[in-house]
Amino acid sequence: MMKFTGKGVYGAIAIGKIAVFERQGMRVKRVPISDPAAEIERLEAAKAVALTQLGEIYEKALKEVGEANAQIFEIHSMMVEDEDYNDAIAEMIRSQSINAEYAVAMTGENFAEMFASMDDSYMQARAADVKDISNRIIACLANEQGTGELSDEKVILCADDLAPSETVSLDKDKILAFVTANGSANSHTAILARNMNIPAIIGLGEAFLGEVQNGVTAIADGFTGELIVDPDAETLTAYQKKQQEEIEKKLLLQKLNGKENITLDGTRINVFANIGSVDNIGAVLLNDAGGIGLFRSEFLYLEKTDYPTEEEQFRVYKKVLESMASKKVIIRTLDIGADKQADYFHLEKEENPALGLRAIRLCLKRPEIFRTQLRALYRASVYGNLGIMFPMVANEWELQEILALCEQVKEELTAENLPYADVELGIMIETPAAAIISDKLAPMVDFFSVGTNDLTQYTLACDRQNPQIEHFCDTHHEALLRLIEWSAKNAHANGAWIGICGELAADTTLTEAFLRMGIDELSVSPSFVLKVRDTIRKIDLRK
Ligand code: PEP
Ligand code: MG
Repeated sequence: MMKFTGKGVYGAIAIGKIAVFERQGMRVKRVPISDPAAEIERLEAAKAVALTQLGEIYEKALKEVGEANAQIFEIHSMMVEDEDYNDAIAEMIRSQSINAEYAVAMTGENFAEMFASMDDSYMQARAADVKDISNRIIACLANEQGTGELSDEKVILCADDLAPSETVSLDKDKILAFVTANGSANSHTAILARNMNIPAIIGLGEAFLGEVQNGVTAIADGFTGELIVDPDAETLTAYQKKQQEEIEKKLLLQKLNGKENITLDGTRINVFANIGSVDNIGAVLLNDAGGIGLFRSEFLYLEKTDYPTEEEQFRVYKKVLESMASKKVIIRTLDIGADKQADYFHLEKEENPALGLRAIRLCLKRPEIFRTQLRALYRASVYGNLGIMFPMVANEWELQEILALCEQVKEELTAENLPYADVELGIMIETPAAAIISDKLAPMVDFFSVGTNDLTQYTLACDRQNPQIEHFCDTHHEALLRLIEWSAKNAHANGAWIGICGELAADTTLTEAFLRMGIDELSVSPSFVLKVRDTIRKIDLRK
């Protein structure tokens, strides 16, 4: 058994036999010619054939991956006719009296290098496209097809790289997964694989190609980016189980896609997802969540060695908002301290860190850090439907200070002519104090979101990090449920809405109880979204 790790670009699992992709001979020789005009004519004829082929590939892609993704082949056609590209080839044929194949290959290499050296990752990915069209023209000059043939059995296709046109030209019904040594997540090959719903792993490194052989069994895990060659029996069984679970999840998705989260008696509730990074958005969309109910922004700070700047944060928040279009995105402000530490904050060692300088307490003590984050959030607010939520609030005065700071930030932005949108403001209910005085806090905010992980810890005096006391940490404890119910009652009495974003939100044995309390939103890990939605649709509150 051997394991290789790359980057999964489409989350699904494939188990099957390996086929190594064979490209037909594309080795190009430099051949002197005596009649450059005739050579350019030969080139023009080959380009015409290439354009016809690209038209056919476009039609195939249109059917298989939709118009937006098929467009790349229109762009390929435009590249074939690009003036700079063609001038460079013709000039090489004329000035060096060389064959068209060689001139196309060299020009393709030069253009690809130019794209690859650009800063923009989108432009870098275009290097593969220019190589692709150059290979196509060369194949047309030699009257070759350019893509490999596959056997009848479905296979995990392993290649050094796959050009977009190769990806689309392959018979989708014969491919279990694409696995490549090179490639980028932004390349059209990756995008096409995603749209063809075929598991794909890229960037495994050249070494892996030396280790794979036709006909050997392998597992391609598009979630983790792992390729397991010749798995042992135990691994194979574990993956077969995982694959089956994924199939069941997909069926559930088909059943629920686009459907409302409504109980049999007509009660509606939002089901959102929790994320810790932009990279999780794919999973949010894949599981058809109605929005993001908790973006733990502290991970942005934890993965760095210094404070993320306003600009860096702005870009991340903007991306999340844009990716979710008009769906609600609730970003929680920095919740650092306790178990989440970053050296550059230089926080003093505390006897009881969970009861110490964490989350909003730290933000209020170090307002310069807080203000930077609030500025980034408000600036990003124009790109979607933003809610901001504050963790670990326990006092009314804390909330007053938070709201005053938000006002200050908005005034600053107005003075700087920087736009911002209406933003819903909310607090997490994760201290018993906040739950108990929720009647006082609710009139000051648009929403509450119950952080049951911390609310459990603080209500039951159970350290959430200590496995020894797990048994005492009863997440169904009546005290906890009463605090949630009380908070819901006070939220609604004051025109605010209430959600739950702690792990308990995904406990489907409590979904009905939460609905009866009038909870308006449940925010859970992306992988739990469908299960919770399915549960909701089976509940009847009239019973
Ligand atoms: C919670 O406490 O329930 C919560 C959602 O926040 P975190 O788990 O990040 O502390
Ligand atoms: Mg918490």
